[in-house]
Amino acid sequence: MAIRKPMVAGNWKMNGSLELIKEMSGAINNVKSKEIDIVLFPPFPLVSSMVLTGVCTGAQTVSENEPGAFTGEVDAKLIKDLGAKYVLVGHSERRSIYNESNTKVAEKFARAQNVGLIPILCVGESETEQENGKTELVVSTQIDAIINKLGVAALKDSVIAYEPVWAIGTGKTASPEQAQNVHKFIRDKIASLDGNLAQGLTILYGGSVNEKNSELLFAQTDIDGGLIGGASLKADSFIAICKSAE
Ligand code: PEP
Repeated sequence: MAIRKPMVAGNWKMNGSLELIKEMSGAINNVKSKEIDIVLFPPFPLVSSMVLTGVCTGAQTVSENEPGAFTGEVDAKLIKDLGAKYVLVGHSERRSIYNESNTKVAEKFARAQNVGLIPILCVGESETEQENGKTELVVSTQIDAIINKLGVAALKDSVIAYEPVWAIGTGKTASPEQAQNVHKFIRDKIASLDGNLAQGLTILYGGSVNEKNSELLFAQTDIDGGLIGGASLKADSFIAICKSAE
């Protein structure tokens, strides 16, 4: 039996509609089981509608601030009150397009946990960093930003998603072995501070996962499921990916 419950999360990015919620929630509610956690991350305006379908819901980002004069931002407490359970922090598109630094990502992580949301911390190296052998350094630094601010115990109520930037939306997936090596590195790093926490920590892989490559990726010892972008917009593909995680 798996030590950790598998999870498959679907990040819709700036896509989706009420129709897609209806289609996807129907498909998910048909295959829901106790063996796997399935979570969908629609854009903010669709969060309430997704919650109402009974599908576990998350938000794609969150403000690091308490409520106040921050036009256009969304407060963590509001996301929680709407019934969402998770929030993505540090997605590579937030880091690169919106210049979110490791410090800011750690503040968002802290704010999410303060209101009882579970942060999914996204980490991963760029193509150049990978070519220069910097993967472990980059991932380590991104995780240390959380540990240095909040202590390793903060990772207990969180999920980590390893998403190599070069694999996101590109059709280039890390090989199962490549991904497993980085996941093991992450787990070992955390185990050096807290062994039990590391053993219980869910670590997802993300980056061009589809129904053809998911089974082998999810079969790796330290890969506990996936964070899925493009393929989470198609019910058949997403359900096939969920089934391959069981
Ligand atoms: C993502 O956005 O987190 C992602 C992994 O996207 P894709 O599956 O499309 O590569």
